[in-house]
Amino acid sequence: MAVEFQWPWVGIAIPCVLISVLSYGSHWFVLRHHMDKADQIKFQAYVSVIWITYLIAIWKNPGTPPKNFNPKVGEWRRWCKKCENYKPERTHHCRSCNQCVLKMDHHCPWTNNCVGHENFPHFLRFVVSVVVTTGWLLIELFKRLVQYYEDRNLPSYLIDKREMFAVIFLLPIDLFVFATITILLGRCIINLIFKGMTQIEVWEKERIEQQFYSERMWAQIRQNYFKLYKKPLPELTSWNHDSRYYDELAQKEDELDELEETQTSFELHEHQLQQEEHNDNQESLVPKSFTMDDIVFPYDYGLWSNLIQACGYPWMWLMPLGGPRGNGYVFPPNEYVEEDQLGLPWPPDGGHQEISVINNQPDFDDLLTDDHTIRPQDLGPLRRRLDPRLNLSRKEWMNEMGETLNDFGVDVDAEAYDKEDIIPTN
Ligand SMILES: [Zn+2]
Ligand SMILES: [Zn+2]
Repeated sequence: MAVEFQWPWVGIAIPCVLISVLSYGSHWFVLRHHMDKADQIKFQAYVSVIWITYLIAIWKNPGTPPKNFNPKVGEWRRWCKKCENYKPERTHHCRSCNQCVLKMDHHCPWTNNCVGHENFPHFLRFVVSVVVTTGWLLIELFKRLVQYYEDRNLPSYLIDKREMFAVIFLLPIDLFVFATITILLGRCIINLIFKGMTQIEVWEKERIEQQFYSERMWAQIRQNYFKLYKKPLPELTSWNHDSRYYDELAQKEDELDELEETQTSFELHEHQLQQEEHNDNQESLVPKSFTMDDIVFPYDYGLWSNLIQACGYPWMWLMPLGGPRGNGYVFPPNEYVEEDQLGLPWPPDGGHQEISVINNQPDFDDLLTDDHTIRPQDLGPLRRRLDPRLNLSRKEWMNEMGETLNDFGVDVDAEAYDKEDIIPTN
């Protein structure tokens, strides 16, 4: 993900070399001796599909918002300084493509292009064709390896050494390409089809989840709510408390081991909090019984609809130029959004936390039992509250894999918020 080349053409040259070596090398040294003609033609047809889909994935523009785009009521008013245009929901400015990208997933160094609304199906066709072809090649090369094992007692002059070296050289490369691209495909499918989220939105969700106990985030959310509805945020109630409770109970066994060392740091922190209590009896802005699961992600339309929106109708999937559904800049919120107590666009803080909160300490009271110990199922939330990333800005925040927005190709410096009018209200 965080791969970035000084010369972008290197990112294209590497896959080209890999595709050539794997497909033509294996065909010349191995496959033509063991496959019948029909299968050889079929294999080369698959390779051609890789080349065609790869070229389209490089060439096809990921989609950019219309000029003079204007956000509607209930959307964020986000201005792109570089394009000098408002950005629709889910759009980000890519610093490599130097344009705003609709429903931006990430900037792919291997296609030197963004993966966005318009070209996601093309990117997916390329990825699938690589997985299918390298998977097939893996089986064929593995069959040869088994054959060598069975022939291990044959006199060595009967073994084709050139072929054997080719198998030993090509098999690990093929396995590596197959494994990494399969993981990428899995990530794309799980995010975009099962959750309806781009990789950037998954990152954003992790940020919100990790900063869930930050006073600063809730100060921002409350302010955003007030600007949109002209009234203070009502008291939030959790509908997911039970499921969260049982999930965390299931993790109890693993976490018991860590209990002791956490307790030490917790006691220290508790002491610090008690001292501060004298100075400050301000009530916490963080809602007491509201969980991350109570926040509704507005663009998850369900499995089938997510699939159609991202990849188009099934009869288009195998078409080389089959595109997605929708224009990429209007995303009506799903039906569950009615249950969203926050009632704000995604992400609820607008990715915009410039409010400073004087008492920015997390509140631990609801995690304490009467005898001032901590329940094992509360260790997860506690760890999040002690995480140093709690109060980082969106620009600096990184997920557990160490990825910042910058690693997805987003140009955070191009973003500007109109402080007075973050949500259009008329
Ligand atoms: Zn832009
Ligand atoms: Zn890009």
